[in-house]
Amino acid sequence: MAIIVVGHKNPDCDSITAAIAVADLLSKRGMEATPVAQGPVTPDAAFVLEKFGLTAPAIETDATDKEIALVDHSDLAQSLNNLDKGKVVCIVDHHKLGDVTTPNPLEMWVMPVGCSGTVIKAMYDFYGIAIPKGIAGALLCAILNDTVLFKSPTCTDADKAACEALAKLAGVADYKALGMDMLKIKGSVDGIPAVDLMNRDYKDFNMGGKKVGIGQVEVLDLGLLDKIKPALVEECKKLQADGRHTVMLLLTDIMKEGSEILVVSQDASLVEKAFGGKVGGALNSMWVDGCMSRKKQVVPPMEKAFA
Ligand code: MG
Ligand code: MG
Ligand code: MG
Repeated sequence: MAIIVVGHKNPDCDSITAAIAVADLLSKRGMEATPVAQGPVTPDAAFVLEKFGLTAPAIETDATDKEIALVDHSDLAQSLNNLDKGKVVCIVDHHKLGDVTTPNPLEMWVMPVGCSGTVIKAMYDFYGIAIPKGIAGALLCAILNDTVLFKSPTCTDADKAACEALAKLAGVADYKALGMDMLKIKGSVDGIPAVDLMNRDYKDFNMGGKKVGIGQVEVLDLGLLDKIKPALVEECKKLQADGRHTVMLLLTDIMKEGSEILVVSQDASLVEKAFGGKVGGALNSMWVDGCMSRKKQVVPPMEKAFA
């Protein structure tokens, strides 16, 4: 039985490219493995796949009776449906350790770096397996994407070193220019419905027994979102009404390096406590200077506030 390799729900560039790369690596170690995704690829991921001649993974949403390698997550809320009816044999991630547990031993590569791509580069090196050119380019882009061209506080020296090495393998001379082209596509919001922006990079978390949803839209200039912000608040309200304590949407300005956070909550004081600020204004939002990373700057203080 082939192992399916899968990233989180609402797959981003890292989840897609990590699934492709880990499936390649497992295959070269003698296991049968195939990449899948829990949804269609985003425009920026499509740009990367096209650029490096890779194919989008088939869509799979259920784990029943399958062997599974998880990439870019280890939270049940972000994983395949019926994960307990499948067998998790491997986890490759760079987030907080989630709530996936296994009755069987498993291979686990989890490091506090900026991207799964950096972990996967280390795995190829560990096993002495050459990284194919196209996969090197895809991993390079995933790292530039997750670290927002090294600007995110999640970025480590290991991520930068991995990019240098991967750029050489992929034959990319100016990888920052490539990264900027990709982020322009990622940040394009023109004509995109509010519901799609809400879901673009949305994740559910279990915080102290409460369901909390946090989405993120990264743009080159927050002004691009002015007209659609009220509609985004409505999308937050819809999600919150659907059994969530709190829904937040980070509107991240990658040039100004900060986020306006839209908040719809049963108790916004918990969010205020998490960030030491006030939620207010017409949109019920707050600006958090320097806030670029959900996993490093939003999830930890929120979990503390909800504990
Ligand atoms: Mg991800
Ligand atoms: Mg990632
Ligand atoms: Mg991200």
